[in-house]
Amino acid sequence: MGVLCGASFRDTWDRFSDRCSWLFPCLSDPARRSAFGLKVALVVLHLIFVGILFVFDNDFIEKTKQRPWYTAIYLILFVATLAQYFFTSNTSPGYVLDAMRVVNETDALVRRISMTSKQPASSKNGNVVISVDRNQLGRNLLASNATSWTKLVMDMYPPGTSVRTWTCSYCNIVQPPRSKHCHDCDKCVLQFDHHCVWLGTCIGEGNHCRFWWYICEETALCLWTGILYITYLKSNISKSWWVDIIMILLLATLCISLIFLVLLLLFHSYLIMTNQTTYELVRRRRIPYLRGIPERVYPFSKGVCRNLYNFCFAQSSEYKMERLPTSQELEEKSRPYTCLDALTCRCCR
Ligand SMILES: [Zn+2]
Ligand SMILES: [Zn+2]
Repeated sequence: MGVLCGASFRDTWDRFSDRCSWLFPCLSDPARRSAFGLKVALVVLHLIFVGILFVFDNDFIEKTKQRPWYTAIYLILFVATLAQYFFTSNTSPGYVLDAMRVVNETDALVRRISMTSKQPASSKNGNVVISVDRNQLGRNLLASNATSWTKLVMDMYPPGTSVRTWTCSYCNIVQPPRSKHCHDCDKCVLQFDHHCVWLGTCIGEGNHCRFWWYICEETALCLWTGILYITYLKSNISKSWWVDIIMILLLATLCISLIFLVLLLLFHSYLIMTNQTTYELVRRRRIPYLRGIPERVYPFSKGVCRNLYNFCFAQSSEYKMERLPTSQELEEKSRPYTCLDALTCRCCR
């Protein structure tokens, strides 16, 4: 009987999935389906936490009538947080394959018009900036050879480095410094930070700034909602014991989420100020180009102000690839930490 019920449920579920796939072709892929399920769960969770206030808290509704602007600002923050969530999850983290397509296509175009037009990428201090209209990506086919890309990338590594060392065995392309292959996305990501399960996408060069803003908004919303819950519990309005229990449980969940969000926000702020990624910080000893660099030296940092400027004003239409610092630059960066006596030391005078 149980087996029959299980089989019929599975049939019904399969039929439902087929219908969903027919209505929404993008949901035919199981990975996309689970990411879609997570997004729906997140929206429902937000609606529950905020909706309960409007259902049970008569005081809050009264206050809304007296001070509509207060509730309006709260609701604007609520909508902005959800909008930022979808905005971030739909932004490309910056895939290496896309950058390579652009370089090869532009290089082919430049060659075709006899080197009279713009260069494939602008280079400053060895760092590479590729300007591109991301909407155009994928419309043209990948150029037949990857020579220009390989040359461009290998120039960012110290001379004498083997191409094989930096070739991704899954995508079969040469990875620029700070890139990593994501096994969930099955693509190499520029300035890979981490793969975010909640957003269903990687966090990389293209969407790290938006991700920071999302955490910031989520923290503010969580804090404000927690304050509204505490105000409700402290009020002297007669209410049922079960409502109190629900409110206390939700408040406890909010407090745990808030602690997590604040720590995450502080952690990512620190990463941004030092121009590091989560992957570089966690796997510092395993990443070949970071091995041997003193702990407190941040090889890609250009100072807090410059790091913040680059992070905040990075254009979404550009792919930025940072070259590895030379041994001389690393020595300069590590000098304040290795030299104990700056006054008498020969290097620091
Ligand atoms: Zn890869
Ligand atoms: Zn990923």
